[in-house]
Amino acid sequence: MQNPFETEERRAFRETVKRYVETEIKPNIDEWDEAADFPWRLHEELGSMGYFGFGVSEAHGGLGFDDAFMRFAAAEEMAKAGGTGVWAGVGGRSISIGPIEHLANEEIRERCLEDIVLGRKGSCLAITEPGGGSDVANMQTTAVREGDEWVINGVKTFITGGMKGDYFVVGARTGGEGLVGISLFFVDADTPGFSRTPLDRKMGWWASDQATLYFDNCRVPAANLMGEENHGFIAIMQNFNYERLSMIAGALGMMKTCLEESIAWAKERETFGKPLIKHQVIRHKIAEMSARIDQIESYGTMICWQINEGHMPVAEICKGKFAATKALEFVASEAMQIFGGAAYLRGNPVERIYREVKVFAIGGGSEEIMRDLAVRQMGL
Ligand SMILES: Cc1cc2nc3c(=O)[nH]c(=O)nc-3n(C[C@H](O)[C@H](O)[C@H](O)COP(=O)(O)OP(=O)(O)OC[C@H]3O[C@@H](n4cnc5c(N)ncnc54)[C@H](O)[C@@H]3O)c2cc1C
Repeated sequence: MQNPFETEERRAFRETVKRYVETEIKPNIDEWDEAADFPWRLHEELGSMGYFGFGVSEAHGGLGFDDAFMRFAAAEEMAKAGGTGVWAGVGGRSISIGPIEHLANEEIRERCLEDIVLGRKGSCLAITEPGGGSDVANMQTTAVREGDEWVINGVKTFITGGMKGDYFVVGARTGGEGLVGISLFFVDADTPGFSRTPLDRKMGWWASDQATLYFDNCRVPAANLMGEENHGFIAIMQNFNYERLSMIAGALGMMKTCLEESIAWAKERETFGKPLIKHQVIRHKIAEMSARIDQIESYGTMICWQINEGHMPVAEICKGKFAATKALEFVASEAMQIFGGAAYLRGNPVERIYREVKVFAIGGGSEEIMRDLAVRQMGL
């Protein structure tokens, strides 16, 4: 669909990411997924393209401006690689840069941010715990002030980029019960008391890494508190907005790939004496898939416009996220159906996308939590 807010700059940025995905990622996605890894140079190449630079000052290696449309385009194009393992593999950095830029002290930003934004070092956001991810206000990891240090104890899990990350933004309890007692901390991976183990054998996102992180009397300087003590919950919630926007865009990119692959297959494959595309049932599937894509694209475009106008439309982002993941579930399933047995085999992008649907419906705030938040934003 045509975007009424398209500009030359936005088009050029989208084209740059698109070209990169087509030449550097798409041809290798199978191999990297099977190897459960991809070369580090991708972090650096994306970094030099400005992929991680939105909302980060030029002094810290960023672009010096923000643009929701460009953020959206970048995530959408990355998700068109025929699988989102690489997209997720660089995504831990994307969701932790905002808090580092806005809440870390100047020494940390001077020391680390440029390396993170340019892809030389990895950073991650560590909120989820084995006891639960949805109920962020109930986190059990603690940070206790002792002199000039904070002593962190607890476990985080499902942390994307966690095995390779150099820096972690960690949520921990510094006050009483509930959302008012949470703070954020910056933790270097080489801090004594920090360790990690990989979470492998996953349903999808094979090329990315997820880890369980252990904090065992892990001492960080007092200055590693990010933002105000006991004000971490709001910061975590605000940070979710861009993560969820990128997941809407990612779902859109995956749906477009499913549609494109389905049309190409339906033109080539013949049953009952004619190409699949000439069978009315298949044509209706294509129409319905295309309509769902248009709906999410339009909704995403309006959300981006509102953000650029200075309003963070939290309810629309929540509604957009579950609408996008429901649409993705439908489109990926229909694409599988159009391919028949051919998409049951590994190596087919539709098969991979179908396996990656659920992480979009669960990660970054599950569909249930998104609905709950949306209704709460309606004052109900
Ligand atoms: C591949 C992957 C990567 C991830 N990366 C990161 C990361 O980088 N950093 C990070 O911090 N976390 C990460 N996560 C964690 C993710 O954010 C959580 O999985 C998610 O928030 C859900 O938490 P949970 O899995 O503990 O489910 P739970 O919170 O245990 O919920 C289980 C189910 O119950 C539902 N549910 C919960 N409460 C309610 C309710 N009140 N009403 C109705 N239904 C409810 C949920 O929607 C869900 O369907 C990742 C997860 C995955 C799978």
